[in-house]
Amino acid sequence: MSKPAETIFGKIISREIPADIVYEDDLALAFKDVKPQAPVHILVIPKKPIASLAEAESEDCDLLGHLLLTAQHVAEKAGLQANGYRIVINTGSDGGQTVFHLHLHILGGRQMAWPPG
Ligand code: 5GP
Repeated sequence: MSKPAETIFGKIISREIPADIVYEDDLALAFKDVKPQAPVHILVIPKKPIASLAEAESEDCDLLGHLLLTAQHVAEKAGLQANGYRIVINTGSDGGQTVFHLHLHILGGRQMAWPPG
């Protein structure tokens, strides 16, 4: 698969632009969404520049699992464990993806609606 062009999230990883970072390890970064859609809205991204879930490959299997467990950890740290939260991965144009660097949205602190818009 093609290497994605550097996105705003790549610049957050390299600290070229600032973000409110809440978690970091060798493989992942989590930071607050600049335009929160819920009282808690945090993005979890891989440091590897995978453009979207559709671009992930079998070699990314462990990394994808790591991102989910990172989201679990970050959600707990944000106090969302008791009441729950929603994880969203917008993928491609119909999925509403606007930044083409894979990211998990952690949304919490209010009741979520279903179906989503
Ligand atoms: P998508 O629509 O691709 O699923 O989500 C992209 C998310 O990135 C949006 O929720 C948007 O508010 C957030 N976002 C876009 N640019 C920035 C930025 O420069 N900093 C931060 N912290 N979030 C951003």
